Amino acid sequence: MDSYDRERRGLAVRKMYRTIAPWTLGNPIFMHLVSKNDQEVKNAVDQCAATGYEALILSFGSHVNMEDTSAANIARWKMLSDYAHARGILIGGYSLFSSRRISDKDDVISPLTGKPGGAFFGNAPCFGSEWGLAYRDKIKYFIKQTGFDIWENDGPYPGDVCASTTHPGHKDEHDSQWRQMEIQKELYRDLAEQEYTSTRQTGTFSMVRIRSGWATVK
Ligand SMILES: [Zn+2]
Repeated sequence: MDSYDRERRGLAVRKMYRTIAPWTLGNPIFMHLVSKNDQEVKNAVDQCAATGYEALILSFGSHVNMEDTSAANIARWKMLSDYAHARGILIGGYSLFSSRRISDKDDVISPLTGKPGGAFFGNAPCFGSEWGLAYRDKIKYFIKQTGFDIWENDGPYPGDVCASTTHPGHKDEHDSQWRQMEIQKELYRDLAEQEYTSTRQTGTFSMVRIRSGWATVK
């Protein structure tokens, strides 16, 4: 930084980040869509292509269900993913993890009461529960089979302390938060290994960008 000129200082800061942490600048210009049907997705892709957006993310409340690994659901989203890619647009989806109630068996157990509930967002599933581990596998399957580029996940950052001693992914309350974070990190890494990735925290969501526009060139 060699001057007080705001533009010059801004350029210097951006060049610094471009050099030491280029992934922080690698996020696409994306549109968040709350879709109700497949045609709305196609329309939004067309609009993105026409206006210079780089990616479309199906937001909270959209009709995408990444936990549905049925052949029909995979085929439907693979078709829409192909539709987006044919027009040079990346596609992604939102997935809610926390603030959901799954079951007494799979929810986080409060160390205070020994019962579900009392989590940071009320009820939340444990990533180390049977449901949590299956959720991880379903997300991996959906992303890989459909060719989606972006996974926008909501929770569990970092996971509530869980006093269950029967969840397969952790022993008890003492390792529960650590193990849930490890499960989440492994999922990020697994998705990211497909190609170049960048992650960012928007305040509410974590976003893992799985493929970059230029990495798909090779
Ligand atoms: Zn647990």
